[in-house]
Amino acid sequence: MIARRFNELSFVEKTDFVSTEQSLRVLLAIESSCDETAAAVVREDGAVLSNVIASQYELHEDWGGVVPEIASRAHLRRILPVITAALSEADCQPEQLSAIAVTTEPGLVGSLLVGLTAAKTLAMGLRIPLITVNHIEAHIYACGMGRDHTIYPSVGFVVSGGHTNLYDCRSATESRLIGGTTDDAAGEAFDKVARILGLPYPGGPSIQRAAADGDPGRFRMPRPLLHSGRLDFSFSGLKTAVLYAARGIPGPDQLTHTPTELVPDLAAAFQQAAVEVLVHKCLLAAEQLSYDTICVGGGVAANLAFREALAEAAAKRSLRLLIAPPELCTDNAAMAAIAWELFAAGHVADLDADVLPGLVRIGKAGNAPDDSELRLRMAGYIAAFTRLPEVRSEFAENPQAEEPQKSFHCLKQGA
Ligand code: ADP
Ligand code: MG
Repeated sequence: MIARRFNELSFVEKTDFVSTEQSLRVLLAIESSCDETAAAVVREDGAVLSNVIASQYELHEDWGGVVPEIASRAHLRRILPVITAALSEADCQPEQLSAIAVTTEPGLVGSLLVGLTAAKTLAMGLRIPLITVNHIEAHIYACGMGRDHTIYPSVGFVVSGGHTNLYDCRSATESRLIGGTTDDAAGEAFDKVARILGLPYPGGPSIQRAAADGDPGRFRMPRPLLHSGRLDFSFSGLKTAVLYAARGIPGPDQLTHTPTELVPDLAAAFQQAAVEVLVHKCLLAAEQLSYDTICVGGGVAANLAFREALAEAAAKRSLRLLIAPPELCTDNAAMAAIAWELFAAGHVADLDADVLPGLVRIGKAGNAPDDSELRLRMAGYIAAFTRLPEVRSEFAENPQAEEPQKSFHCLKQGA
């Protein structure tokens, strides 16, 4: 199902695009690192002309977390309709694009490969540069979008389903990891605790809702590594503490389900403990680096209790806090606007660029989908839209290629 969300930061009417197209270039950005298939058209002055996101929550909710194989198969089905929608919402013809940007790291290997294959094919077909984007740097960059002042140097804090990482960000293209989780990511902990409490996936919003009616003081929860003096995190012990408080310790008397009446208080106690650790370490990073700006992104940055606690703590220390707008906290392609900075700095990728999932990739990864299916579909796609005769003849030969409109139609019907 396409969830089409338009970025409030854009400030741009479609007519603006037409009137400025001669002077300002546009790129298409593609994001498929985890469980969102996303594409955006972004102008070189940072204006977001379209921002289309197809989330996969409904596909993963039965499992309580993202299943890599399901994610990459869904990306395969959705990527072309999402690209088509992003171009069409921006009133942009493929030939008007000056570059293709794509997330290549970090993420799920199969999911990243789908986006990269689509991006390479478009870059090749349109004869325009390919720019590879680091998803984490893009999350931090999103904090500055729509602002007219620089966000660097700053502490970058990415708190999502896959990461709880602190960075020393000197510029858009220079960041250094200074801290991270030793086990579960914060968002992963929200998702797992929600499962323990019988709350729906994704866990973050469910826990936030349940916690609103809860008393955080009823259950005492640990604050792992709070006073370690280091910038690392651990959430698996906190998750286990919730499990034991909810159902009792392992043994014949342990409950199989959490009693409903305990859920709000447990959710509130967990959220408070997690937020306290996140806020504390983020401020510690600012202190250690002597920076006065903090940039926070990732899905967990949408959490209201976290936003409020961080705002209060930052204000007390006169720190400048920049949290990405909720629209840009979770995965999206608009934040790949960072590609314009990379482009200006000369970072253009070769067509043999590979994904960097964050794990060592030896040969072809086990769970990577066979991307020959996507190659066929992309060939048909390019043949259908291109106005460059030499490209059309190169790609039109493939009889198995799929019509772009056909796949969009399938997706709209929920296929
Ligand atoms: P990923 O890159 O891992 O997919 P996202 O940036 O898309 O991460 O964020 C998804 C994660 O954010 C999920 O773990 C989800 O539970 C969490 N999340 C989303 N909204 C909230 C919220 N309001 N409070 C806490 N966590 C949240
Ligand atoms: Mg996601």
